[in-house]
Amino acid sequence: MKVLCGLMLVLLPLTVNATSNNGIETQAISNGVFVLHDKEYATNIGLLNTDQHIVLIDPMPGKSQLVNLEQAIRQLSKDKPILLLNTHVHEDHNGGNEYFTNKGARLFNGKFEQLDLQHMSVKSHSSRDNLFYHKPSNSIFVGDIIEANWHPTFYAGGINGFNRAIDQILALADKDTIIIPGHGPTLNNIQLAELRQNTLNWLSRISQLSVMGKNLDDILREQEANNILQKFSLDHDPDFLPPNAKKRFVQRSLKLIKAK
Ligand SMILES: [Zn+2]
Repeated sequence: MKVLCGLMLVLLPLTVNATSNNGIETQAISNGVFVLHDKEYATNIGLLNTDQHIVLIDPMPGKSQLVNLEQAIRQLSKDKPILLLNTHVHEDHNGGNEYFTNKGARLFNGKFEQLDLQHMSVKSHSSRDNLFYHKPSNSIFVGDIIEANWHPTFYAGGINGFNRAIDQILALADKDTIIIPGHGPTLNNIQLAELRQNTLNWLSRISQLSVMGKNLDDILREQEANNILQKFSLDHDPDFLPPNAKKRFVQRSLKLIKAK
């Protein structure tokens, strides 16, 4: 029994924070703040349950997935009107807008203070990435500026745009801030600073290997580069990057270094 009790204590926080509903996992971030997540699209969908509205950040596309998402939302609030926000205009982050607008939701275009949100926009992952900082819960939705289960994707803004975006997030974040990436587990300011450093280490290693005359296949096999790459997966998945994606990332990194 002692063993069982110990096990239950370990498992309990997980079961309290994340509940699954028709394939949609609902993770409580704070009072009235949730991240919803569907396995297939793996987009982190933010939900603020305010006095008057449900604010939905980045509804994913899909058919049955959206029906399931709507059900999960209506379990949190039966009939509040839905306001939509998007961190950027990629399909996996705004593909569900139409589903909800057809059901009476509207794209938010009012003053962000009304929702207790601070809004900033940067150019890093896409030509316009929106950041939404929710002061009451000290949480920040950063979209794909950060993908905590993938390699960094800063192709619109290059390394400078990425750095500026991280600076903005770190300027807002203290040690208790919950940073919600576009995909993958949430992180704190220390993990974010480490992720930035890892990105710089990656580019530096790729650059060294390129100067040493290593070709693409050499780089793909190189141990130190692979060690750095693995650290991009905050949930420590050894297979987080399929071989094609890894190859593409090395090629893009080389291009970025040459363009500097
Ligand atoms: Zn994206």
